[in-house]
Amino acid sequence: MKNIIFIAPPSAGKGTISDYFVKHYGYEHLSTGDLLRSEVARGTNLGKEINDIISKGNLVSDELIIRLVSQELEKLKDKPFILDGFPRTLAQAEELDQMLVTLGVSHNVVIYLDVPLDIAMARALGRVVCPKCKRSYNINNPKLSPQKNNICDDCGTILERRSDDTEETFRKRYETFLTSTIPITQFYQNKGMLVKVDATDELELIYEKILSLTKQDEA
Ligand SMILES: [Zn+2]
Repeated sequence: MKNIIFIAPPSAGKGTISDYFVKHYGYEHLSTGDLLRSEVARGTNLGKEINDIISKGNLVSDELIIRLVSQELEKLKDKPFILDGFPRTLAQAEELDQMLVTLGVSHNVVIYLDVPLDIAMARALGRVVCPKCKRSYNINNPKLSPQKNNICDDCGTILERRSDDTEETFRKRYETFLTSTIPITQFYQNKGMLVKVDATDELELIYEKILSLTKQDEA
């Protein structure tokens, strides 16, 4: 199966989709956020370096993230992977390209999960979670709403909002994503690697579409 590189605005459903492919198709989910945290937690030399940068309030450099991702990719051998949160810049995309060539990883698809601002915002702002049993709901989606307003169906606990976003901050995050992603999508488009998937479809349809994209071809 092809490796998946996700490019997705906030609340496009990347986490849910990744979980599905990990569970059903044996993918390894490489989220740069998680990788950074676990490297710090393990207290490796790289982890200490990262911790030092983050604790000073600085951003982790492209170079460091690339080292981290490269290290993880080398461990995977032939297992298919999902890259999440990387590449974030054109420089990272170019580095990744080189890295994959060096590692001999040639079957990749870049999937752009397309979701318009209003739908992404409704998803993000509607998210509530049960603090007791951790079940999550979405009050902006009738299918995912609790039966009783603001009460967990399973255990009767009062639900809590999950996102710190307001309309304004969400709009800003979404727009920042769009602006910073244009050069990356252009880069992959030119290489013929970019596929857009409509992330407003039913999940089953999205899974099916992505599955068909990951089928190995003899390119
Ligand atoms: Zn509950």
